[in-house]
Amino acid sequence: GMLPSTKEPLFAAHFRSDIKKVMDVLADPNAYTMVQCAPAIRVALGEEFGLEYGSMCQGKLIAALRELGFDRVYDTNFAADLTIMEEAAELVHRIQNGGTLPMFTSCCPAWVKYLEDQYPELIDHLSSCRSPQQMAGSMFKTYGAKIDKVDPKKIVSVAIMPCTCKKFECERPEMNASGEQDVDVVLTTRELAQLIKHMGIDFLNLADQDVDSPLGCYTGAGNIFGTTGGVMEAALRTAVESISGEKLKKLEFEAVRGLDGVRKASVDINGQTISVCIVAGVEHLPSVMEDIKAGRADFQFMEVMCCPTGCVSGGGQPKVLLPAQREKANQLRRAGLYAIDSTSTSRKSHENPDIQKLYKNFLGEPLGHTSHHLLHIERGEHSHE
Ligand code: SF4
Repeated sequence: GMLPSTKEPLFAAHFRSDIKKVMDVLADPNAYTMVQCAPAIRVALGEEFGLEYGSMCQGKLIAALRELGFDRVYDTNFAADLTIMEEAAELVHRIQNGGTLPMFTSCCPAWVKYLEDQYPELIDHLSSCRSPQQMAGSMFKTYGAKIDKVDPKKIVSVAIMPCTCKKFECERPEMNASGEQDVDVVLTTRELAQLIKHMGIDFLNLADQDVDSPLGCYTGAGNIFGTTGGVMEAALRTAVESISGEKLKKLEFEAVRGLDGVRKASVDINGQTISVCIVAGVEHLPSVMEDIKAGRADFQFMEVMCCPTGCVSGGGQPKVLLPAQREKANQLRRAGLYAIDSTSTSRKSHENPDIQKLYKNFLGEPLGHTSHHLLHIERGEHSHE
């Protein structure tokens, strides 16, 4: 009935589509394919097949990716947990060592580009962490290659994203921490839906399947990355426990949730206060940035997402054309992500057992030598170009 994307041609000349690229890779017997899905996909893809807004369809999504022929079905959420390990450690390090504050999140490539173009003098505020998409890519072609005993050069890494900007991000020259391009192709949620339909897969009748381990296992914290305030909440769960040395009594940081374009909150940790700011929607950036530039920032950590409710409302998600319906869809998608979090057995990134194993067997420590090389970016030299 009302599904606009079913009418989009599969390979139109006037807009970019990477579906053909992915079909070619899946048909190539020499390619070893690994795929990751961002958190926002699992609560939106079903809409393309007539399901209610925000319907959780992770099990069918994984089954569909296997049916398409991917050798490994992993999850961006694992890398979101990894991002939190590194980003929380970086924040604590900056706070305890007089580093540049406030620190900015670095997972939204549209925001990173905005900062580079509009406020290059503030680039040192940006976390050096690669985004979850890129961390997943570099892990696929190093640790993942080792586990599966495959030549990293044979691995083609595909990302399913709610975002068109992620296509631009993976092609940036510095996104080759593994020695190869870490993420080779990005499909949006809508492109994936088109591909599934094109291949004649009966999505709604697929039996649920589980993601592959170890690069697919995730916590509730990794999953809420897909909504505004989610990165902040996930980071606070880990940073607060790391600073206080005590287990949190309550995992929900209600103050960072919500839908205002600019939100501020403070967290008390044994008498020490961490203040944070969350920006959702690029139109709110100029005033916040001018404050920071003028030295008026009264917070230590800032999350920025360029889309109005975070990645659930990304430009690659199923289109909802009427504004009232769009608002409803975004709210239900957010609710879907929070529901996954609240029902997860593990809800803190540092308690992800496969993340712990990754550090023990391969990376060493957060901010350590290998982590620095594979999970971070030196941006200093680009800042005055
Ligand atoms: Fe992409 Fe929007 Fe998410 Fe930024 S907030 S990463 S532009 S979907």
